[in-house]
Amino acid sequence: HATKKTMADHLRKYESLFTLTPQRMRMIVEAFTECLELGLSKPNQIVPMIPTWVFGWPTGKETGDYLALDLGGTNLRVCLVTLQGEGKFEITQTKYRLSEEQKQDDGQKLFDFCAECLQTFIESNTGDGPGQLRPNQLLPLGFTFSYPCTQERIDHGELIRWTKGFGAPNTEGRDVADMFKKSLEKYQLPVELTALINDTTGTLIASHYVSPRTKIAVIFGTGCNAAYMERVPDIPKIAHLGIASDAEMAINCEWGAFDSFEHEHLPRTKYDAIVDDTSNKPGEQAFEKLISGRYLGEIFRLVICELIDEGVLFLGQNTYKVEKPYCFDTAFLSLMESDPTDELLMIIGIFTHFFALETTLAERQFFRALAKLVGRRAARLSACGIAAIVNKMGLLEDGCSVGADGSLYNKYPSFAERVHEGLVDIFGDRGRNVVTHHAEDGSGVGSAIIAAMTKARR
Ligand code: ADP
Repeated sequence: HATKKTMADHLRKYESLFTLTPQRMRMIVEAFTECLELGLSKPNQIVPMIPTWVFGWPTGKETGDYLALDLGGTNLRVCLVTLQGEGKFEITQTKYRLSEEQKQDDGQKLFDFCAECLQTFIESNTGDGPGQLRPNQLLPLGFTFSYPCTQERIDHGELIRWTKGFGAPNTEGRDVADMFKKSLEKYQLPVELTALINDTTGTLIASHYVSPRTKIAVIFGTGCNAAYMERVPDIPKIAHLGIASDAEMAINCEWGAFDSFEHEHLPRTKYDAIVDDTSNKPGEQAFEKLISGRYLGEIFRLVICELIDEGVLFLGQNTYKVEKPYCFDTAFLSLMESDPTDELLMIIGIFTHFFALETTLAERQFFRALAKLVGRRAARLSACGIAAIVNKMGLLEDGCSVGADGSLYNKYPSFAERVHEGLVDIFGDRGRNVVTHHAEDGSGVGSAIIAAMTKARR
């Protein structure tokens, strides 16, 4: 008879599945760097490296009132940003939650909803007090639309494909700036759409406005993506446009797509394969599916379900609640990792309250360790992406700052530390020259600064 495995025995199996060695990381960085270069050289590559038409860094002297609308993965945010120059700004904002139905509803309806929220926001912020909008004051609007779009100009963007669980029909392949302008007209709003921006580009610009050592921006939210500033001569695919050779342009990498379809470079477990197969876009966003907030809780849950099927966990208890796909929010992983009690009371709470399940201490220790494995792998893979850009741009010697935003970065304990450890595993001690920092309000403020930069260029 085989002796019954303990939770610690099970953990060893998952440790070997989810752990990335420094050597493996360096191989990923190498492949990643090649993909970035391929995306710059030819159109329609797996990592599309999208030119954003944002030329160079802000001067820090940008001033004025701007509206920003941010369609993220989870929320819709409307902001009024007052740029005061000298890297300073003020921001007023309101969040509106998007329902799962809205994400799958007709595209024009989604933009109508955005316009409706903007209308409500304008109405409630109009008056004659300080920091308020004047009635019918025409305002420039930066639209932060964080899905991959090809852009021919700053106020244009053809949606390549939805990501992050969105699937609104009649939108892919169309100019979303144009669709949104239609909604603005419908509601007769006193705004002028001046720029369509990705949240990573916004974060890059806003982060540099406040701290000029910033050279890269990364978002760790529902999705995962990065942007950086590239020399125009190093973007061969736009050579025919004849842009001045001393110019620089921000590139929206859309790096969440790295290793999509081919699945050659990234270590995928069978849980990752299930996440992919059961997603609304199988094969796509391979890198993002290992990293971002939308998926980490689900990866964890799939391991739990495997152990339920094997008769290891929750014998004799009704497990239907935890068997529902995507019921295990990534925020639970954060909570489990930060439980300060010996008894792991927080974990007791999560399992009894949300899933009606009783747990033993050994199981709770296992859950915490498993959360750590999933979270740590995500952070180390992110370090590989950052390292690829650092390599590509030769930023290691002088070092640089990486502006980062999103709930996963801001709220997951030790996520940033693990990214930094990963960078040291890749580059050795010099990896310490690359440091991430939280970029506050990147997408809203960035949108405003870019709208201001655009106005100045016209
Ligand atoms: P978005 O990317 O949609 O603009 P966020 O940056 O807030 O918005 O990211 C939302 C994602 O972050 C969700 O997938 C959610 O599961 C995850 N998340 C929310 N809170 C936490 C937390 N405390 N720890 C880890 N992940 C979290």
